[in-house]
Amino acid sequence: MPTALIGLGSNLGARAAACARAASLIDRLPQTRLVALSRLVESAPIGGPPQRPFVNAVLRVETGIRPGPLLRKLKRIERDLGRVPGLRWGPRRIDADLLYWGEAVVRNGSLDLPHPRIAERRFVLDPLAEVAASFRDPVRGCTLEALRDRAAPEVRGQEVSVMKPVPRTWKFLGERIARRQSDGARRAPARILRTVAALRRYVAAARRAGRSIGFVPTMGALHEGHLSLMRRAKRECDVVLVSIFVNPMQFGPREDFSKYPRDLAGDARLCSSAGVDAIFAPSVEAMYPPGFKTCVDMRDLTEPLCGRFRPGHFRGVMTVVAKLFLQVQPDAAFFGQKDFQQAAILKQMARDLDFPIRIVRCPIVREPDGLAMSSRNAYLSPEERSQALCLSQALTEARRLLRGGERRAGRLRRAMKRIVRAVSGARIDYISIVDPETLRDVEQATPSSVALLAVRIGPARLIDNAILGE
Ligand code: AMP
Repeated sequence: MPTALIGLGSNLGARAAACARAASLIDRLPQTRLVALSRLVESAPIGGPPQRPFVNAVLRVETGIRPGPLLRKLKRIERDLGRVPGLRWGPRRIDADLLYWGEAVVRNGSLDLPHPRIAERRFVLDPLAEVAASFRDPVRGCTLEALRDRAAPEVRGQEVSVMKPVPRTWKFLGERIARRQSDGARRAPARILRTVAALRRYVAAARRAGRSIGFVPTMGALHEGHLSLMRRAKRECDVVLVSIFVNPMQFGPREDFSKYPRDLAGDARLCSSAGVDAIFAPSVEAMYPPGFKTCVDMRDLTEPLCGRFRPGHFRGVMTVVAKLFLQVQPDAAFFGQKDFQQAAILKQMARDLDFPIRIVRCPIVREPDGLAMSSRNAYLSPEERSQALCLSQALTEARRLLRGGERRAGRLRRAMKRIVRAVSGARIDYISIVDPETLRDVEQATPSSVALLAVRIGPARLIDNAILGE
């Protein structure tokens, strides 16, 4: 079903409740389903008499109702919720605007699609990019994320703040959508695709239906960290495809390729629970048929940090990801900050090789005690598991020192080293404070510098990092 994006606004009465009520009524329209809601934002009114700040949000819905009738239904909802027609710039209980309806372009006086003032309003651009970053504006030919990022300086300068705490009615609605998505996912297990040909057929059908594709490459043995990428992809794209492939090319001869944990059935269940539509799980022969000779490589970014300790690793990662990008041709691909250097390299690769793919870096998901989630944590004994906490503790210490005014990277590094060295059996590969773009060591740290470390504990080589000012 086509995707419609609907803007809500209110600055009279219980503003958040009116938005939530309107969203609920839209969700109940025939052949219509609410699939995502942005956060509520507050901003000062533009034009008109002095009045209270507005609360705004954007809804992403799938709907079988054509744009004209849908607009009439939105007007009806506005009236039912007490909007008084006629006060063009005055305060209003609820506004429900049809911003986009698929890629339809309509200009006929009563219906203007895409909505004409989108690019002038930050309170629309920010929430739009939140729920539909990869959606293409059919007139401007760019994604909504690009539209937000390229907004004129006076638009970026408009003051918009996220409403905190999240009003109860809005939170409740979000939970309802999440519940429905996981129920839906339980009913519809992710399709498993084994060959490149099957993958291409699946992707072509999704494209013909006008659906955007979000892609999450993994090596399986999935955990909450992976699932967070899938959920983010689900929020931003229509179809989510996950690859599960333990890529031999990125493992060194003495590394853990053969013992890397593999559990496709369990992984498929987890993917389904996160709303993934399809899993691409090729064999090694399908990805590297006999006679395979090509690789993708890069200078500079691959040399420091893990590059020094895992020669050839990033060549393997880039080669497999380039192949996957060409096979899937997604609109957006989602990677974890957990592998900071990898995400930086892949972003650079996409730029250098003109892959028209938005690369999204997602935050690190941690266990409650701070350990960064990793498939390799499974190698740790209970004692090693508690020793592994030294990585996140060292990062916390570096951030604490920076907050306290320490800028000398050498000092930060030494403080981190002290914490890791206090753990018997922890062997440091590297501890570095780097510039987030060049990945080269800095002497003076800033809040945007990144602290990274790789430490061997028992049979596992663990990595972790933190942006110092975050
Ligand atoms: P892997 O299966 O280890 O190759 O990881 C697949 C993707 O999941 C990569 O983009 C990782 O950065 C990401 N990832 C792994 N662990 C985490 C985590 N704890 N938090 C967020 N993303 C993660």
